[in-house]
Amino acid sequence: MIRVRFAPSPTGHLHIGGARTALFNYLYARHNNGRFILRIEDTDRTRSTEEYIDTIIEGMKWLKLDWDEGPFRQTDRFDVYRDYTERLIREGKAYRCYCSPEELEQRRKEAITQGQPQKYDGRCRNVEKGQSIKVSEDQSKNAAVRFKMPQEGQTVVDDLMRGKVVFENNQLDDLIIMRSDGTPTYNFTVVVDDVDMKITHVIRGDDHLNNTPKQIHIYKALGYDIPLFAHLPMILGADKTRLSKRHGATSVMVYKEMGYLPDALVNYLVRLGWSYGDQEVFTREELIKYFSFENVGKSSAVFNPEKLLWLNSQYMINTSSEDLTKMVMPFLIQEKIINEEQPLDKVWLSKAIATLKERAKTLVELAKTLRYYIVEDIEYNEKAKAKFLNEKSRDLLIELKDALTSLPDFSVSEMEKIFKSMIEKHNIKLGNLAQPVRVAITGGTESPGIFEVLDIVGREKTLKRLDRAIRVIQNQ
Ligand code: GLU
Repeated sequence: MIRVRFAPSPTGHLHIGGARTALFNYLYARHNNGRFILRIEDTDRTRSTEEYIDTIIEGMKWLKLDWDEGPFRQTDRFDVYRDYTERLIREGKAYRCYCSPEELEQRRKEAITQGQPQKYDGRCRNVEKGQSIKVSEDQSKNAAVRFKMPQEGQTVVDDLMRGKVVFENNQLDDLIIMRSDGTPTYNFTVVVDDVDMKITHVIRGDDHLNNTPKQIHIYKALGYDIPLFAHLPMILGADKTRLSKRHGATSVMVYKEMGYLPDALVNYLVRLGWSYGDQEVFTREELIKYFSFENVGKSSAVFNPEKLLWLNSQYMINTSSEDLTKMVMPFLIQEKIINEEQPLDKVWLSKAIATLKERAKTLVELAKTLRYYIVEDIEYNEKAKAKFLNEKSRDLLIELKDALTSLPDFSVSEMEKIFKSMIEKHNIKLGNLAQPVRVAITGGTESPGIFEVLDIVGREKTLKRLDRAIRVIQNQ
């Protein structure tokens, strides 16, 4: 059975790159009826926080990347790492290192002046075999544990993305697997956990490719099978440097706040590196069905916020107005269009949304344009007001108001009739009447069809707003 994992370090928010890694793992698991495991790699206690753990989990849930096992936390597994470390020491595959940070720093500087490689010089490698370094009690307490890295030969990483990548073992350091304070380090815990959690495929960013030969040696020392590796190409910004905050929002939850739909972001993320013919928009089922590593590109993908926005607008159009009604609620509150207690007729709101969803690219835009449907009093756009609420339109607005007041049935077809007869009577174009009305009702010059708008705003508010516009003109 295929078992994969997403193993974020909670030293920051879930970002675009991390979310794509999570997504590829998720899709690979689902495509193969495998298991997807979430593991929080929080051994670096100085940089990991509970808040980041929470936001990573929140981000995964928002994107609906549901996992089958976990979230496991490495800080809950320190005993396990200690046991494995002791086993390696017993078997002569790891050793205690008594060198202090100051000594190491001094020797590193010497190595630089002598043109030697800047890696651990192996001083403590053979101490425990009875060689002659005297160790004080203090030093012994503060010992770190290093892994004995083979120093000759080569290590080949056979990567699903990169093919065979060869590393020279003499470039590999005797890395510290347990710090002097007893906390284990990444390259060691990742192997122990991938073994314990029976991971078959390690799918992660290619910033970890250089760590892989070290990890392979740890697998071998522990006597375990090596999983398959797939190192995904980096995501870059438009200037072809590694994607970072300089390129705009990179945190997944910021996209939630900006009113993106989770499925649109997932669709965008999957296309950062993966393709299926020319198809751009995929359902989750299609992604699961089609996903494979053969279709993941070998070169870095460039993050394009405009394309993400375009995809989001497609998802807005394709999402039912009923679903958008639920989704837009928090944004109506955020934009202070409603307060939390305010009752809103959901059926009416969904009708209003149906008129706007083709125009709004995000839920924030949708909430903002819904304002004139919902609030009591609209604000005029100054330019629109100057252009359309003036002497020329005053009499038309008065006439329309009177006609609408006595209209037996305030329906789209009845309103259409009134507009039509007024246009004919005054020999004007629809715009000459519709634009002043639009400004009077919505505050601006852009909106869905005027009859739909009036229908949703309703007779009472329509008359009130026409009245106000007439007064505004009279007071000018
Ligand atoms: N914790 C590592 C990171 O967040 C991932 C390690 C891995 O996937 O092997 O970069």
